[in-house]
Amino acid sequence: MTQAFFALLLQADPPPANFVDVVVLALLSIAVIVLSALSGRVNMGFRVPGFPNPLPSKRKEILRKRFPFYNGLSDNKKRRFEQKVQYFIHVKEFIPRQIPSVTEEMKVLISACAVQLTFGYPKIFLSHFKRILIYPDNYYSTINKAYHKGEVNPRLRAIVLAWKAFVEGYISESDGKNLGLHEMAHALRLENLILNAEYNFLDEEVLERWQVLADSEMKSIANGNSRMFRDYAGTNPDEFFSVAVENFFERPEKFKSLMPNLYGILVLLLKQDPLNPL
Ligand SMILES: [Zn+2]
Repeated sequence: MTQAFFALLLQADPPPANFVDVVVLALLSIAVIVLSALSGRVNMGFRVPGFPNPLPSKRKEILRKRFPFYNGLSDNKKRRFEQKVQYFIHVKEFIPRQIPSVTEEMKVLISACAVQLTFGYPKIFLSHFKRILIYPDNYYSTINKAYHKGEVNPRLRAIVLAWKAFVEGYISESDGKNLGLHEMAHALRLENLILNAEYNFLDEEVLERWQVLADSEMKSIANGNSRMFRDYAGTNPDEFFSVAVENFFERPEKFKSLMPNLYGILVLLLKQDPLNPL
């Protein structure tokens, strides 16, 4: 009985292939593939840890040649850094101002700067700030009626940078001046206050301890007794934070030795220590 059944199966002719059916099936398969790809693209906005695309080798080469922070990381941390840079580039809109286009080098290094600052927070991408505007050099701001090197504009959801000053910030590695880190630090503080998925990621208690010490140091600066920060840090708490971040990454030994408490709190706040790379 069973043998007969199999014999019957073997003998049975396959159903005649209908050309129209085959075409419809092929089109359906293509539609499924395209839809999957599109939904994958949309989902990328939320699936940070599983972001599938590795950083292309051309971009890695730019990091290797131009970004010392990256070169100081272990291989494992380098991969995390690359992933975050790739994702940052993916979610931001880079807008050229008074230049024909935004180069790969600009995209990679500006993103690397944001990743350097937020490396202790794997899921923080300064998401409110969707646009990165890049000028070739200092630009005239019609709002302030003055020339600027950079600014953060929460209303326009933009971080604005003068490329020349950005590059100079990284060329002079240890003068405690770094435009990119300065502006990213402004964006970080603002991002913490904006009601979105990245709201309130900085530990409130640590932030309060920071402010107590910052106020005291700001008073010293006002009295002409700054220990290492330039006078501009005394302008207000936001500028103080940004200048502190510049010094944190560019002159960590001096910062730690002169202001160990302030340095220690910044380590807690940023969840990383430049003297002990992640
Ligand atoms: Zn500032």
